[in-house]
Amino acid sequence: MNKLENSVQYLKGIGPKKANLLNKIGIRTIEDIIYHFPRAYEDRRNLKKISALENGEKANLRVVICGAPRKYRPQRNMSIIKLPAKDETGFIYLTWFNQDYIISNINIGDIININGRVKKIGNQIEMQNPEYEKYEESGKKIGRIVPIYQLTEKLSNNELTKIVEYTLANYLDYTIDVIPQNIIDELELFSFNEAIKNIHFPKDRVSYKKAKERLVFEELLLLQLGLLIIKRKNTVNNKGIMFSKNDETQKLIELLPYKLTSAQIRVFNEISMDMESPKQMNRLVQGDVGSGKTIIAVLSMLKAYNSGFQSVMMAPTEILATQHYESVNALFDKFNINCQLLTSNITGKKRMEILREIEKGEIHVIIGTHAVLQENVNFHKLGLAITDEQHRFGVRQRATLSLKGNNPDILVMTATPIPRTLALILYGDLEVSIIDELPAGRKKIKTYIASGEMKKRVYSFIREQIKKGRQAYIVCPLIEESDSIKAQSANELYEILKSSSLSDLRLGLLHGQMKAAEKDSIMTKFKSGEIDILVSTTVIEVGVNVPNANIMLIENAERFGLAQLHQLRGRVGRGNYQSYCILINESKSKIAKERMYIMEKTNDGFVIAEKDLQIRGPGEFFGTRQHGLPELKIANLFSDINTLKIAQSIAFRLLESDPSLSSNNNKMIKERILKLFNKESQMISFN
Ligand code: ADP
Ligand code: MG
Repeated sequence: MNKLENSVQYLKGIGPKKANLLNKIGIRTIEDIIYHFPRAYEDRRNLKKISALENGEKANLRVVICGAPRKYRPQRNMSIIKLPAKDETGFIYLTWFNQDYIISNINIGDIININGRVKKIGNQIEMQNPEYEKYEESGKKIGRIVPIYQLTEKLSNNELTKIVEYTLANYLDYTIDVIPQNIIDELELFSFNEAIKNIHFPKDRVSYKKAKERLVFEELLLLQLGLLIIKRKNTVNNKGIMFSKNDETQKLIELLPYKLTSAQIRVFNEISMDMESPKQMNRLVQGDVGSGKTIIAVLSMLKAYNSGFQSVMMAPTEILATQHYESVNALFDKFNINCQLLTSNITGKKRMEILREIEKGEIHVIIGTHAVLQENVNFHKLGLAITDEQHRFGVRQRATLSLKGNNPDILVMTATPIPRTLALILYGDLEVSIIDELPAGRKKIKTYIASGEMKKRVYSFIREQIKKGRQAYIVCPLIEESDSIKAQSANELYEILKSSSLSDLRLGLLHGQMKAAEKDSIMTKFKSGEIDILVSTTVIEVGVNVPNANIMLIENAERFGLAQLHQLRGRVGRGNYQSYCILINESKSKIAKERMYIMEKTNDGFVIAEKDLQIRGPGEFFGTRQHGLPELKIANLFSDINTLKIAQSIAFRLLESDPSLSSNNNKMIKERILKLFNKESQMISFN
C-alpha cells in the first residue's frame, strides 16, 4: 500500500484527537497534508531595528535578552511575564500572558528572533505575546516567508506548520512526479518536489511563483486530459443512431404561432445533421434565457419519434418538468405522440403503469426530473436523451441518462454562457451550438435597484401594473442551502405581505418543500391569472414561463450570484409587455453596489456571466462539485486562463501521440487521472 495514503495518525505525535481536528479541515491522509496548500503567506524576512518601529505595526526583530524576567499577577487567574530586551538601537519589553513556562525557556543573554505587533506606550516600546525562536534555530519561524494555513478551532497555525514540515521532511520522497520529464524540461517547470517545498515554504517570491505555476499546470492538465478522454469515449467509439431525414418537424414549425428565429433554425439544422449521421450526437445548446431552447428540444424529440425511437427530457425542478410536460404535450397534439410526466411525486399505481408503458415502448416521450434516472426506468428503445438547464446537473447524471439507451443521441441545454476556453473544460466532451438571438419584438427588461426603504413605492408600482392586468413574482432572500429554512423564509414573507402592504391582492406561495400537487395547483393558478403575485423561493429560477407576468422583485438581491439574478430576471420579459426587474439591495458594500449596477446596465447574459466570474471566481460560479469534476485545489479557471491554454495544448498533444497514455513516460499521469476521476470512473476508460 502507498505510504502516502496512510492515515495522518501514522505521523509522529498525532493521536486520535489531533487527527480529528485535521479531519475537520479535510486532511485524512498523509498525502492530504502535502496538498493542504497555504491560503496566504507572511513575509518575515525583513528584520527591523527597534528604533525604526512604529506603533501598531507587525514586525520581526532580533534582540538579546538583557534583564531578569518579572512576573505580575493582576488577577487571580492571570499572570504576566515581562522580559526586557534590546538591539543596538534601543530597548523593548516582551510580555506574555499566562505563559509562565517562558521564564524557564529564555535566559539572560539569549539572542532570539521575535515576531509580533508593536505597542508604544509613552516612550516605552512593547510587544505582547510575540512568537519567538532562539537564534540557533534561526530562520524557522522568523526571517523567512511563513505559510498561513486554513485552520480550525484548537489547531494553531504554528502546530500545523510543524506537521507540514515534518511530513515534507519524511514523506516527500515517496511522492511521484507524474508529469513526463520532457514536458517539465520544455516548459521549464519545477519538479513536483521542488514545487511542493516552495508552495509551503517559499524561498522567495520567484520560487513561490514557479511552485504555483507548476502545481496549477499539473491540476489543469489532469483535468483537461480526463475530460478529453471522456469526450473521445463519447464520440469515437460510439456508433450512434441514424435518424431518418423523413420527419414531420417542418409541419410542426408551420403550426407554431411564431416564426423561428434564424438562430433557432441554424441550431436545429446542426442537431438534425448530428441526428442523421451515424455518429452519436453529443451537443450542447447554449442560449440566453428566453432565446427559445424548448422548441428546439421539442423538434428533436419529434424527429426521434418519426424514426421510431423514444425520447427523454430531464429538467432540474419539478415545476419546470411539469411546465415542459404541459407545453410539449400541447405542441404534440397533432402528432399522436404519447407523452408522459415522471417525477418522484408520481407514485403507486400510476407510476407502475408509466414504468410499464415506457418499457413496452407505448410512451414515446417522457419528461421528468431526476426521477427518470432511477434504475427501474427502462426504455424500450431510447433514441434521444435531453438535459435541460445542464448547469444544474453533474457530468455523471448526464452519463447515467445516456446509459438508459443503446448509445442514444445526447442533447444538453443551458442558459449559462461561458467563455470558450472554459467551455472546453466544463463541457469538454461536447460540441457546442449557440442561439445568439432573441425572438423579435421582445422589449428590453427595465432593471431598477432599490433600497429597503423604497419598498412602499415599489409595492404601489406593482399594484398599478396588476390593475392593468399583469402579474408579478416576488423572490425572497436567499438563505443557506437548507430547503426547510428557505421554505420558512418564503412563508414569513408571504404572511407579512398578505397581512399588510399587499393585502388587497391575490397572493400565492411557492417553495420547494410543498407537495407536488400543491405546487402544481399554485403554478396553474398563476398561469391562468387567478393569482396576482407569486411569492417564491428560487425554485422558479430556471425555465418557468408565464408571459403575462412582467415584474420580478428580488429581495436582498445582493446575496445572489449575478448569473442567478439574470436567470430570475429571465422569468419576465417573455411576452409583449414592458417588463421590470426590481432588485432590492440591502447592502452598503461597494462590491454589492457594483454588482447591482452591472445588472442594471446590461441584459446580456454573456457579459453578466463574465463579470460574475471575475467577481466571484469560478468555484462558486460553476460549483465544480455539481459538475462531478475533481475539485481544484490551487488552479483558478479564470485567473489561470493562460496556464489553462498551455495545459490544453499539451493535453491534445499527449493524447495524439499516445492515445491510451500507456507509454512509460505517460503511465504515471494516467494512473493519477484514474484516481482523480475515480468517482466518475464509469465514464473514464482508456480503450
Ligand atoms: P428558454 O431558452 O429560456 O428555455 P423558452 O424555450 O422557454 O426559452 O422560450 C421562451 C418563450 O419564447 C416561450 O414562451 C416560447 O414559446 C417563446 N418563443 C420561442 N421561440 C420563439 C420565437 N422564435 N418567436 C417568438 N416566441 C418564441
Ligand atoms: Mg428553458
